[in-house]
Amino acid sequence: MPVDVVVVGAGVLGSSVALRLAQAGRKVLVLERAVPGAEASSAAGGILSPGVEAAEPGPFYALCRASLARYPEFVRDVEALSGMSVGLRALGTLEIALDDEHAKVLAARAEKLLGHGLPVEVLDDDAVRRLEPGISHEARGALFFADESSLDPRLLARAVYVAASRAGASFVTGQVHRIVCEGGRAVGVEHEAGRIEAERVVLAAGAWSMRVEGNGLPPGSVRPVRGQIALFDTRPPLLSRVVFSGHGYLVPRPDGRILCGSTMEEVGFEKAVTAGGLRQVLDIAIGIAPAIARAPVVETWSNFRPASPDGEPILGEGSVAGLLYATGHTRNGILLTPVTADAIAAIVLGRAPPVDLAPFSPARLAAILGRRR
Ligand SMILES: Cc1cc2nc3c(=O)[nH]c(=O)nc-3n(C[C@H](O)[C@H](O)[C@H](O)COP(=O)(O)OP(=O)(O)OC[C@H]3O[C@@H](n4cnc5c(N)ncnc54)[C@H](O)[C@@H]3O)c2cc1C
Repeated sequence: MPVDVVVVGAGVLGSSVALRLAQAGRKVLVLERAVPGAEASSAAGGILSPGVEAAEPGPFYALCRASLARYPEFVRDVEALSGMSVGLRALGTLEIALDDEHAKVLAARAEKLLGHGLPVEVLDDDAVRRLEPGISHEARGALFFADESSLDPRLLARAVYVAASRAGASFVTGQVHRIVCEGGRAVGVEHEAGRIEAERVVLAAGAWSMRVEGNGLPPGSVRPVRGQIALFDTRPPLLSRVVFSGHGYLVPRPDGRILCGSTMEEVGFEKAVTAGGLRQVLDIAIGIAPAIARAPVVETWSNFRPASPDGEPILGEGSVAGLLYATGHTRNGILLTPVTADAIAAIVLGRAPPVDLAPFSPARLAAILGRRR
C-alpha cells in the first residue's frame, strides 16, 4: 500500500521531518540503511550558534535565527513524546580572539551585526575571564552571543527517532538504491526489500545523498567533509559556555566533559581519527583553555558533514516533482533541524513554509558548481 511520504535517511533531519509529518496525520515511512541517528547527527558538537556560523546578516543568518527561535518548542515536543532529555542549555556562545588578526575580524563582525540591530555583545579581556575563568590569558576580548544554546546531539538523535516513532512514523532498516521517477515525477523508491510507492519522497541521506540514484541534483552538490572530535573530562567543570577561537571550538557538558572540534577534511568517506587530526584538535583545546592539557581524553571520533558547495542547506523542491530535499546542511544540521522539519512538512501539507526557501533551493547549485569548473 503506498504511503504518503517516504523519507530516505534517519539522521536528525530525516527523523524530524518524519516527526512533524506524523504529528500532522500523514503516513510516513523512514528508510535507514543502518542505525537511526548514528552518523553525522551523533558526531556533532551540538552548537546552536547563528552568530558564529552565519556571521553575516542575510538569508542564511535569518534561517539560522529562525531555527534557534523554534528550538525550545521543538525540544518540548521531542522530550514530551520520547520521555528523554536532549540537554538543551541556553548559556550563550563566546568567540574569543587569540591573536590580533582574529581580534580585527571580530571587531568588524560586531560592527556589522550591531549596525543591523542584531544581538551581539563585545567583551574585554576581564569580562571574558569573569564569565569563563578557564579561558586562556592570551585571549584579547571576545564576542558574546548571549541568547544562543547548545545540546547533546547523541541524545537529540535518539530522542527525535523515538518521538517520531511514537507519533506514528514507521522506520524500516535497509538501503535505498534509487528514487523512482515516472513522467518526470518521483513516485517512490527502490529499496533493498523492493519498490515502495509514495506520493512524496524526501531525500535526507546526509553526506551520502549523491549516492542515491535519481537524486536530481547536479554532480558535486553534496560531498563528505570529515570532522574529528576529542572529548575530555574536566573535574570540577572547567567551562560552562561554548567557546570558539578562530581555529575551532569547545563545547562543555554540564558534568564537566568538554568536547573539542574540529577538522574540516576532504578525504572522501574514510572514517578515521588520525594523528594529524588529533594534534589539530588538541591544539585548539589547549589554546582556548590551557588547563585541558591535564584532562584525560575519554573518547575520540570522526564523521562526515553533508557539505553543499556554499555551506548552506539544500531545502525544498527541485526539478523533479514530488521529490523534496532536506540535505546539504554542512556544519549546521543540528542548528537547522527545527526549521528544516517545519519547512519540509509545510510544503507536503500544502502550507507556506515558515521562511522563504528560495535562497536554499537546489536551483542555485548548478551555477555555483559551474563557476568552480
Ligand atoms: C564533527 C562534526 C561536528 C559537527 N558539529 C555541529 C554542531 O555543533 N552544530 C550543528 O548544527 N551541526 C554540526 N555538525 C553538522 C551536523 O552534524 C550535520 O549537518 C547533521 O547531523 C546532518 O544530519 P543528516 O540527518 O543530514 O545526516 P546524518 O546524521 O549523517 O544522517 C543521514 C542518514 O542517512 C542514512 N543513509 C544514507 N544513505 C542512505 C541510503 N541510500 N538508504 C538509507 N539510508 C541512508 C545514513 O545511514 C544516516 O543515518 C557537525 C558535523 C560533524 C561531522
